Amino acid sequence: MAPKYWNEECERISRTDLEQLQLKRLRKTVDRALQTPFYKRRLAKAGIRSGNDIRNLGDCEKIPYTTKDDLRQAYPDGLLAVDRDEVVRLHTSSGTTGTPTVIYHTGNDLENWTELLARCILATGASHKDVFQNMMTYGMFTGGLGLHYGAEKVGMMTIPIGGGNTVRQLNLMRDFQSTVLHITPSYMLHIHSAMEAEGYSLEDLNLKKAYMGGEPYSESTRRKIEEIYNIDAYNSYGLSEMNGPGIAFECEEKNGMHIWEDSFIVELRDPSTGEELGPGEKGELVMTTLCREATPILRYRTGDITSLMGGECPCGRTHRRIERITGRLDDMLIVNGVNIYPSQIEAVLMKIPEVGTNYQIVVENKGAIDKLTVKSEIYAKLFSGDTRQLESIRESIKDRLKSSIIINAAVELHEPGGLPVFEGKAKRVIDKRSEG
Ligand code: ADP
Ligand code: ZN
Repeated sequence: MAPKYWNEECERISRTDLEQLQLKRLRKTVDRALQTPFYKRRLAKAGIRSGNDIRNLGDCEKIPYTTKDDLRQAYPDGLLAVDRDEVVRLHTSSGTTGTPTVIYHTGNDLENWTELLARCILATGASHKDVFQNMMTYGMFTGGLGLHYGAEKVGMMTIPIGGGNTVRQLNLMRDFQSTVLHITPSYMLHIHSAMEAEGYSLEDLNLKKAYMGGEPYSESTRRKIEEIYNIDAYNSYGLSEMNGPGIAFECEEKNGMHIWEDSFIVELRDPSTGEELGPGEKGELVMTTLCREATPILRYRTGDITSLMGGECPCGRTHRRIERITGRLDDMLIVNGVNIYPSQIEAVLMKIPEVGTNYQIVVENKGAIDKLTVKSEIYAKLFSGDTRQLESIRESIKDRLKSSIIINAAVELHEPGGLPVFEGKAKRVIDKRSEG
């Protein structure tokens, strides 16, 4: 039997001990943050001059939030808390939407990050006997390297292929009998259409699990992927500001993601009022690093929408779980005054058996009103020439969308391969309103 826990003592720590540990680490983190020009100024304004000014975990509220914009303004080293010589790696964001952000790591930071991933991997029931194909992009994007180190730590045979190059991916899966994949859900869906086109069948492969993250997706997409590949798919959440993958991960229960609270303080806040939210209430995830030396970050507004789950997990881990992320605050579309998250549309599509593995959402202005078009690929066999059948699929998609998102969407059906393919994070929404 593979061991169930990587670090049982910590993964099953009592809540009282955990809170004591958090307080100790929070004080230390505040002291570290005070070494940076950015927090020195920010914390002084809030009357915090040392970690000792934090008397209990409730005092966390005294600390001002940190935003992505703060990180941008601190670029390149306004948030560096250690001597440059102690840094062993940095990751920056792509910077396509403005100044990039940078996160520095010391050797200890990387070790801690790796440990968190080793815990996540064992929590899914995988072990050193597995063959791990890492299909996330390597490089500055944290998805690839993050899981890579965790997988090697656990002792899995690791194939560092990175994203893209679908035929080669399939060849590797077959030749080395990969059992665990790390991949974005959109690429996982695409690989399935490619398998058919390349003449691969599931029997050629030995797939057992997939770790899927990097972008929001619905429970129906997970189910669809589990069904078409006959595997277990686990949700993996992370963001580069908090390291990358390994922040929150599903265990074998596949019911919410444990978030490692010995390394992060987790808060759920109403994004407009700042009010603290209880279990089951949806809001913005706010996180504080507790172990990071090189770039401590206090009360970071992730922009990600989720809720905390109450109750204990049967797996025995005491670290709380968060629900699947529904989207980012800035992903929300307002169409004719109605708020819609792309994941709501995806959830509808992936429940419809005729719908294939790719879709796109287009919003544009038509006079004074917005027009929403949902383009969906459907399976090739349905394009046999019976237009009545196609029309009825189209109508059925339209109806189901209407009952979920309330507004009328135009629906276009496409043959497999008809819509743009994404090998990393998908760009599903084309909002033409912002272009004009
Ligand atoms: P960027 O912000 O440029 O996309 P990151 O690579 O740090 O950079 O991406 C982190 C973001 O990706 C998260 O804040 C979240 O919005 C999204 N994300 C990551 N994993 C998941 C997941 N499992 N479910 C939903 N969203 C996710
Ligand atoms: Zn669990």
